[in-house]
Amino acid sequence: MTTQAQTPTPPSAALSLVAAGDLCAGCGLCAGLAPEAVTMAVDARGFLRPVQRGPIPAAQEAAIAASCPGLGQSARPAKPGQEVLWGPFERMKTGFSTDPALRHAGASGGALSALAAHLLETGRVDAVVQIEADPANPTGNRTRISTARAHILASAGSRYAPSAPLAGLAALRASGRRHAFIGKPCDAAALRAAAARDPAIAHTFPVILSFFCAGVPSARGAEELLAAMGADADRLESFRYRGNGWPGRAVAKLNDGTEREMSYHEAWGGVLSGHVQHRCKICADGTGGAADLVFADAWEADPRGYPIFDEAPGQSLIVARTALGVELLSEAEGAGALETQPFDVAELAAIQPGQRERRRALFARLAALKLMLRPVPRYEGLNLRACARQNPLSRNARNFLGTLRRALRRQA
Ligand SMILES: Cc1cc2nc3c(=O)[nH]c(=O)nc-3n(C[C@H](O)[C@H](O)[C@H](O)COP(=O)(O)OP(=O)(O)OC[C@H]3O[C@@H](n4cnc5c(N)ncnc54)[C@H](O)[C@@H]3O)c2cc1C
Ligand code: SF4
Ligand code: SF4
Repeated sequence: MTTQAQTPTPPSAALSLVAAGDLCAGCGLCAGLAPEAVTMAVDARGFLRPVQRGPIPAAQEAAIAASCPGLGQSARPAKPGQEVLWGPFERMKTGFSTDPALRHAGASGGALSALAAHLLETGRVDAVVQIEADPANPTGNRTRISTARAHILASAGSRYAPSAPLAGLAALRASGRRHAFIGKPCDAAALRAAAARDPAIAHTFPVILSFFCAGVPSARGAEELLAAMGADADRLESFRYRGNGWPGRAVAKLNDGTEREMSYHEAWGGVLSGHVQHRCKICADGTGGAADLVFADAWEADPRGYPIFDEAPGQSLIVARTALGVELLSEAEGAGALETQPFDVAELAAIQPGQRERRRALFARLAALKLMLRPVPRYEGLNLRACARQNPLSRNARNFLGTLRRALRRQA
């Protein structure tokens, strides 16, 4: 019997560079652009990562190289006179869904779900691409194409676990239908970049929605969380990271009908935030600069300026970044889907300390990685030098040295 020599698959230059720098955000765009050659799978660390199974045609390789958020992001800079930390915006408000079920189920005020339901029910889009819990793996995520309010309600709430909502892009593009897309800021940036190169993608996704994002923890994070809650993973029936109240609690439902719970503050601050991927620690845009509308927690601040995580009726921060975002927000307000109040951007730095500090620290972190000749994303229009100037020199030096130390440890 003769064995035929297998031609090895030429590795994608773009994906190889992403892997060399551990720069993957797990968005799934590469799989969406090259579905015959790339799939997404959970790696040994518990993150969703691309797996190349065949040669990637040159045009698809070029599209990945130009749009992968691990390799880079271009953003519109903040407008003259606007605070550089938060990127460009047209309106900033707080608000909540007037549908009590969406407000309760939502991570904060259910405003993101309310807007998505409004787009669907007014025919602005045919469907909403979003993330929901994976019934086969209750701490994990899967992508859902929602065509009814009930689907959006079932998907409401934040899920602090890997998601790759762009992995199915090819099929959605081929469908000819118009979708609102909900994803992390890196997903939104990847989609915006891909849409700028391909009018069919732009047609498929006329609306891009996102939320502020501090980072995606690995599946190992969820395992540690279950252990800390005293919940047996083998008996898990369903799992919520938060929501069902504001901020809501992490709740594990077991197959004997019992529940284990933990506060949002303990679950995120005590466990999950320690499992966030490298790309998130050097993320220049956790506030959704590429989206039409972005949603976040409109925390109250205590007298020292720290966010308060006491249970309260949910309030979302709502940021309209484009003219389309302003139009959609006004329509949803006018139709009574959202109740909103004005919000003063000067208050944002106090209630979003994680976003504030990461933006200010980034210039120093990236400088340390470049010194170590580590690949970093190519960031354009993100005002990183101006953000760093808001830090005292000592804090920039601490961030530089801390990143250098970690990079040296990884190399050792
Ligand atoms: C990983 C992560 C980090 C976050 N970090 C911050 C932060 O630093 N500061 C802050 O203010 N807010 C953060 N948020 C956002 C916040 O939790 C809420 O999404 C936001 O307040 C909007 O709430 P809502 O009630 O309006 O949204 P909801 O009505 O609850 O809608 C949430 C939407 O997000 C989608 N979604 C949930 N999890 C994921 C996921 N993993 N990937 C893609 N889509 C998802 C759901 O499908 C749903 O459509 C984070 C969310 C996530 C998932
Ligand atoms: S960041 Fe997105 S496009 Fe880039 S390699 Fe990772 S999954 Fe693929
Ligand atoms: S922190 Fe940035 S890179 Fe990480 S998941 Fe969020 S938006 Fe993506």
